[in-house]
Amino acid sequence: MEKYLKKIPEELKGLINNVRDIAAKKNIKAYLVGGFVRDLILGVKNLDLDIVSAGDGIGLAQDFADAHGVKITVHQQFGTATVFVKPALKVDFSSSRKEYYPQPAHLPLVQAGSLKDDLFRRDFTINSMAIGLKDGSLVDYFGGLDDLRHKVIRVLHPLSFNDDPTRILRAVRFEQRYNFKIEPRTLKLLKEASRARLLERIHPHRTRDDLILVLKEKEPIKEIRRIEKLTGFDFVSPKLKVNARTYALLRAFKKQIDYFNKNYTRRRPLDNWVIYLIALLDCLDVKTTKGICARLGLRKGEEKRTVTYKQTKLKALKYLSKARVKPAKIFALLEPLSYETILALRGTYNHPLFRRNITDFLDIYNGMRIFVSGNDLRGLGVLPGPRYQEIFTQVLNAKLNGRVKTKEEELALIKQLLRKRS
Ligand code: ATP
Repeated sequence: MEKYLKKIPEELKGLINNVRDIAAKKNIKAYLVGGFVRDLILGVKNLDLDIVSAGDGIGLAQDFADAHGVKITVHQQFGTATVFVKPALKVDFSSSRKEYYPQPAHLPLVQAGSLKDDLFRRDFTINSMAIGLKDGSLVDYFGGLDDLRHKVIRVLHPLSFNDDPTRILRAVRFEQRYNFKIEPRTLKLLKEASRARLLERIHPHRTRDDLILVLKEKEPIKEIRRIEKLTGFDFVSPKLKVNARTYALLRAFKKQIDYFNKNYTRRRPLDNWVIYLIALLDCLDVKTTKGICARLGLRKGEEKRTVTYKQTKLKALKYLSKARVKPAKIFALLEPLSYETILALRGTYNHPLFRRNITDFLDIYNGMRIFVSGNDLRGLGVLPGPRYQEIFTQVLNAKLNGRVKTKEEELALIKQLLRKRS
């Protein structure tokens, strides 16, 4: 019975015991559920704890948060709460519930239900198991353990993809992540749902979330290949055609991600998924891409990185594929861009000088600043105004091009510029 609890990573044992004790005191039955249970059995690390209780889930969450003195967010209308134990560690609590889908591809109606109801509303058998905190027993109504052993993805009932077509993407995600197989009947249902274009009927923000999860997977290329084969990308845009060029770009961009992570460990972490999104949308023009970004409700920065790639790639190729490009020119072109856009550019053209110039930017010029400030200019009698920016740009360019190094040299250059002007 206890064998599953024993597998829980040390860092989580204390927390889980604590939930168990609070639940016992409140006389509530509490269970670990979903992906955490799946990964515990598989021996895969997962720090996203999901607790379902028969009874007051929010009360249990509140007492747990109080005991740890940490932040809690409560969604009263859904009967759920999230407790943020540490930045990378959160615990989701909910009371067991039953769901009805009054219309296909719409959000469900929710009401209180038994643990079995709660597990029945889940996507696949492998995600529908629970472990009782009191005695560590596995609750497995739908054959999840067997399916885990046989490495198959299976829906719980024939209308599963009609109820929630995002499960099409989720099925592919788990299949590819764990090297499982979508079992034949589930595959047939998935293909029927796909032929009925159900993914296109749900709110684009929901497909966006699942698409981002696909792109965040460890091996998104094989996930994209499988989605392309099973259902296509019309749910993103009917104009989106994934072809040999897309795959070539995806592979080239992956190499760029690896290159950056190996060589620039102290820079900010990359949003890999944005780089893959740039590759995925490569065949589309700027206008269509902007339309997709708006429909999916992508954040401004995400849209900007994707669109800027398209807007700058030819210009970057023209100016950076030469020897002896002035560093100030490289800087002016690349400094305003994000790392994601820059790496996508570097991956697009396999041109040695182009790549060399981008490497120089990343190695030397990126983030370069000058020493002099507005105070120094005021000290030299320059009145605040647009002239400040002109001078700073000239000093920075001189620094990039190696003509000045120290603050003294910067000041000497400014004096020279002022003399020329007067
Ligand atoms: P991951 O490892 O990618 O985080 P997960 O299984 O933990 O996967 P979550 O999205 O965190 O996935 O969801 C937690 C659990 O909620 C799932 O294991 C599943 O039981 C259930 N679930 C999530 N999304 C759906 C869905 N669209 N339909 C039905 N059940 C779902």
